[in-house]
Amino acid sequence: MSKEIFNNRVAVLATMHQKEKVIAPLLHEYLGINVIVPKNFNTDVFGTFTREIKRPDTQIITAKLKAKAALEITGETIAIASEGSFIPHPSFPYIYANREIIIFLDQENELEIIGEVFSTDTNFNHQIIHNLPAAAEFAQKVGFPEHGLVVWFEKSTSGNPEIIKGINTKERLQESVNFALNNSLDGNLHIETDMRALYNPTRMENIKKATQDLLNKINSCCSQCRTPGFSVTETVKGLPCEICHQPTVLTMAIVYQCQKCNFIDKKLYPQGKQFADPSLCNYCNP
Ligand SMILES: [Zn+2]
Ligand SMILES: [Zn+2]
Repeated sequence: MSKEIFNNRVAVLATMHQKEKVIAPLLHEYLGINVIVPKNFNTDVFGTFTREIKRPDTQIITAKLKAKAALEITGETIAIASEGSFIPHPSFPYIYANREIIIFLDQENELEIIGEVFSTDTNFNHQIIHNLPAAAEFAQKVGFPEHGLVVWFEKSTSGNPEIIKGINTKERLQESVNFALNNSLDGNLHIETDMRALYNPTRMENIKKATQDLLNKINSCCSQCRTPGFSVTETVKGLPCEICHQPTVLTMAIVYQCQKCNFIDKKLYPQGKQFADPSLCNYCNP
């Protein structure tokens, strides 16, 4: 059904970081969509990882702004944009996680579908260093030179920091570190991973996974009106404990809702179990 709606249509992808490499083949294979990338589309105005420009809003709203800007420039009716963030893992704050979202807008059918992935596969890291051997050690730890680096430093008390991005050879790293050490106001050199997709194959892989999630959602259609994007809008906790039957924090049901006709489908026991293990019960195992 989804393929009928999208086959042979054009989607504009709002990127200047080569995300089409992983997104375009999947959309073409599974939906028959031809992905194009607008020339000279500057996504930096929607925020940079290196903080010169703040992201205007949340990840999803920012992605939507990018997608809408791409629609306006090109006059196409389908747009795609993705947005990543790197945060300490909620349960293990000493490791980082990458949340990637990808938004799909179809103006013709008034659809807005979002794919996402939350992964601990990331090299996201940063450090303050004072010499070249420390830079080399950091570089090795984060998968350089396949993964790019950023070096920045303060050159004056008032001005903006000097930022050198996209470092992906040993020569450029050496050059950048020496330049930074010679010109840094306080002798501190900040080295960090370049998180832009074209400099970060690990992130590119997560964008691919988010695209696969997007495709799953696009291919899930409402059983009442056949609209694509029939996806989970709510999870209901409270799966009862096997022994005492008190509700636990485990998921009891997931709720799907159609964004077109509002049809709701509630699936009980999505993990295939009607009761929770007593070891996860607050009463039996406090
Ligand atoms: Zn119990
Ligand atoms: Zn529906």
